[in-house]
Amino acid sequence: MNGKVGSAFVIYLGEDEIDSFTYRLSDNSSVFMAEDFDINKALDEIILRNLDHVDLITDSRSALMALDSPFEKRVYVNSMKKKIVNYSGKINLKWVRAHKGTKGNERADYLAKLAIEKQEIDCLFHETRTEIRLKVKQNMIQSWQTRWDSSKNGKVTREYFKKVCVKRVKGDFYLNQIYTGHGVFRTHQYRFFGKTNICHCGDEIGDMQHVLLKCRLWNIQRNQLKIKLNNSLNILLGQEKFRIFCRFVIQSLLNLEIET
Ligand SMILES: [Zn+2]
Repeated sequence: MNGKVGSAFVIYLGEDEIDSFTYRLSDNSSVFMAEDFDINKALDEIILRNLDHVDLITDSRSALMALDSPFEKRVYVNSMKKKIVNYSGKINLKWVRAHKGTKGNERADYLAKLAIEKQEIDCLFHETRTEIRLKVKQNMIQSWQTRWDSSKNGKVTREYFKKVCVKRVKGDFYLNQIYTGHGVFRTHQYRFFGKTNICHCGDEIGDMQHVLLKCRLWNIQRNQLKIKLNNSLNILLGQEKFRIFCRFVIQSLLNLEIET
């Protein structure tokens, strides 16, 4: 809650609460870690008090499943398993659905919420390898994003891909000419190769907007699309049939360039 993590357990004798324990865990703790921590502390208390026959009740199905699994690898979980197996008394692990008004569960929930108000942290967990890896990845993406945002290059591409992404971008010979603003469009040919920037139709400058959204040379195919074209190219490119149309137009442009 508010980035803080608390946990608690309560000891009952019959209907009577005889003791309770609250812990504030380090802020990076996961729910699973808090649940496991609780169970472990409860086990220690059972062993310390030498209780003979105990029901250990939790609302954490994942913690119980981990304790039950023969394939569990986590040292922390396995050390709890050992405590249960080696204990001379009987410990029954039981599950109860959370937030269903079960007396002990509600009480432990309430105490866990109070625990986060503690000034001192009772248990400091080190960051796990996965957390460190995630943080490094997030930092890397953040610095890449900063570079991308302030780069003098890639202005057109940035319009389509504002956020950097580590997932592989699928290469598409045709669409990449739109995403980069480089390629067969006359504006690009004019800028880099000194050719005319007037479209093959002769009406206007042959930039992407004109060719893909207005040029009369592809009116027939464009009308067949039956989609509203008053959106940005970025949005339109989200539709497969518009992408097919774009590939067709760019191939036609390539043919026209070869012929001229
Ligand atoms: Zn045109």
